[in-house]
Amino acid sequence: HQVDSFEQEFSAYCDCRHTIGVASGLDALKLILRALDIGPGDEVIVPPMTFAATANCIVYQGGTPVFADVDAETLLIDPVCVEQKVTKRTKAVIAVDYAGQPCDYDALRAITDRHGLALIADGCHALGATYKGKPVGAVADMTAFSFHPVKHITTGEGGMITTDSPDYADRMRRFRNHGISSDHRQREAQGSWFYQMVDLGFNYRMTDIQCALGISQLKKLPLWIDRRREIAAQYDAAFSTTD
Ligand SMILES: *Cc1c(COP(=O)(O)O)cnc(C)c1O
Repeated sequence: HQVDSFEQEFSAYCDCRHTIGVASGLDALKLILRALDIGPGDEVIVPPMTFAATANCIVYQGGTPVFADVDAETLLIDPVCVEQKVTKRTKAVIAVDYAGQPCDYDALRAITDRHGLALIADGCHALGATYKGKPVGAVADMTAFSFHPVKHITTGEGGMITTDSPDYADRMRRFRNHGISSDHRQREAQGSWFYQMVDLGFNYRMTDIQCALGISQLKKLPLWIDRRREIAAQYDAAFSTTD
C-alpha cells in the first residue's frame, strides 16, 4: 500500500488534508480542471511563462486559456493583469510558482474571491517552497506537482494534487480510476466485489513501485533544495557584476 503511504507523507509535508497521486503533472492539472467542471465556453487565466501543460490542461477540457502577463522582475503572474482579464466566462486562475517562487497569493485570492473563481496553483517548480509560512500545496484551492526526473523529487514519472476540499478530492480520486466509485483496496477492506462506474474516468493512477521511490525521495528533498540554492547562489554571484 505504498500509494496510500506516499500520499499521507506528502499530505504531512504540504500540511494539507487530501493528496491524490497521479501518473504525471499534466494528469494532476487535468484532474483539477475536471473537478471544477471546466468545459466549452469557460475561460481560465494562466501566465504565458510556464511549461506547456499549464495551458494545455484547459484545452483538453474544451475551455479557453486566457493569458495574463507576468511581472518583469519576478516572472510571476501579475495580479493586476489577472483582474483585467476577468470576464463573465472566467471560472479559475492557475498561478505558476515559477522557478520555485510562490506567487502573490494574497492579491490573487482577493481577486478570485471578488469574482467567485477557483484559485489553482501549478506548483511543479515549487515543492518545498513556502508562502508566508505555509507550504506551497496548502495555499491555493488545489495544487499540482510533478515527479518528472527534472523536478525536485522524482518517481520516474508521476504527479500529485493537494487540496483541503473532500469534495474535490473524491471527484479526482474517482476520475483517476476509470470513474469507479471504489478502488480494489476499499473493496478488499469491505469484503465486497461490488463497484459502480459513476463518471467517465481515466487511468491516471500512480503505481506502488513509483510511490515506494517517492517515499525515499521525499526524505532527501531538504538536501536537494539546499543544493539547488547553492547552485542558484553561484549563478547570482556570477551575473551580479555590473561591469
Ligand atoms: C513539469 C511541469 C509540468 C508537467 O509535468 P509532467 O509531469 O511532465 O506532466 C507542468 N507545469 C510545470 C510548471 C512544470 O514544470
